[in-house]
Amino acid sequence: MTIETILVLNAGSSSIKFQLFKGEESVLSGQIDGLGASAWIKGKSAEGVTIMDRALSEEEAQNHNTALQVILALLKEFDPNLEVDAIGHRVVHGSSKYSAPVLVTEEVAAELETFNPLAPLHNPHNLAGIAGAKAAFPGKPNVACFDTAFHRTQEFKNEAYAIPTKYYDEGIRRYGMHGQSFHYIAEELHNVAPEVANGKVVVAHLGNGASMCAIENGKSVTTTMGFTPVDGLAMGTRSGLIDPGVIFYLIENKGMSAKEVANLLNKESGMKGLSGISQDMRDLENSDSPDAKRALDYYDNRIKRELGALVAVMGGLDAIVFTGGIGENSSQTRAGVCKGLEFLGVEIDEEANKARAKEAITISKGSSKVKVMAIPTNEEAMIARQTRAICEA
Ligand code: ADP
Repeated sequence: MTIETILVLNAGSSSIKFQLFKGEESVLSGQIDGLGASAWIKGKSAEGVTIMDRALSEEEAQNHNTALQVILALLKEFDPNLEVDAIGHRVVHGSSKYSAPVLVTEEVAAELETFNPLAPLHNPHNLAGIAGAKAAFPGKPNVACFDTAFHRTQEFKNEAYAIPTKYYDEGIRRYGMHGQSFHYIAEELHNVAPEVANGKVVVAHLGNGASMCAIENGKSVTTTMGFTPVDGLAMGTRSGLIDPGVIFYLIENKGMSAKEVANLLNKESGMKGLSGISQDMRDLENSDSPDAKRALDYYDNRIKRELGALVAVMGGLDAIVFTGGIGENSSQTRAGVCKGLEFLGVEIDEEANKARAKEAITISKGSSKVKVMAIPTNEEAMIARQTRAICEA
């Protein structure tokens, strides 16, 4: 089956992001926000022409199904003769079973529902997006592309927690996330830095959520996120790595419920909790407050600690790649992380590091043993690529 036009959907709890691809090229993108309340749709072509920018009616904003009808109308407005050949979906969790994307049959859809407890904040919405797309595009193939799939190459020693293995067997494992982004960067390195593409690379995906991945020969060796996205680095509002003893203490001595602790660690911690100012990196970089400076220093230091661990596990380092909103744009974070890493062979070119990575940039000196780059990620392009591969197989 030849696939020309692919719609990529990323359905969240109250939003649906969408992007339309013709071949490898993105021709249209947009999103619906505020589902369930006062929702709004925005969509524009790759040339920047606004196709739709309006509120949804109460009826349209009811659920993912009704919202998808509005996306359908937007697509028709963009191109009245448009035929969507396949739909690629971001699905956060594929459990230990899926190490690759899968065509969503009735059977697969039922199976994916059983993964909901692994990612209760994400997977049910991703699946609602799939159900909605089935109704909106009858007969067209839907492909689930998992955030966790890329990390299924991890060996037991990197994937297991040191608790009785019956829990590992039941699925309590370090799954890792941001797989689409890491996979995209691993492939992109063949275009922009082929000399390191098959080497030992640490990729730091730094957005509101953040994780790092040790990639060797294009495959994930290990990653900083674990069973859930709260593990690893300090993030916008998530704590990252924390002694589980803190959780017991909060419950037993501070009278907090499990739900309250989950809320604390997911929504009130990270940069927001540390700075007391904002979760947004731009706010912190623009602030003169010593609390903001201390939080930023903490952020860089956590990345550095994980970098050390990832490099040690790989037994070497050929390149570091920064990506995500912070990795692509914050020269301050990149400089802060790389400062003091000369012993590893990292030499940063301060001038080159001032640039924003609108496309791949190299920020290390020519003499640097380790190549350091900032590369814009493109998770949607990766989903479109995988969807095409599955449908054309
Ligand atoms: P998400 O994980 O939601 O996809 P992004 O990858 O877009 O998020 O990253 C959002 C983060 O990127 C925010 O903390 C934001 O402050 C940061 N960011 C965006 N632009 C800049 C910039 N020019 N300088 C520093 N940080 C930036």
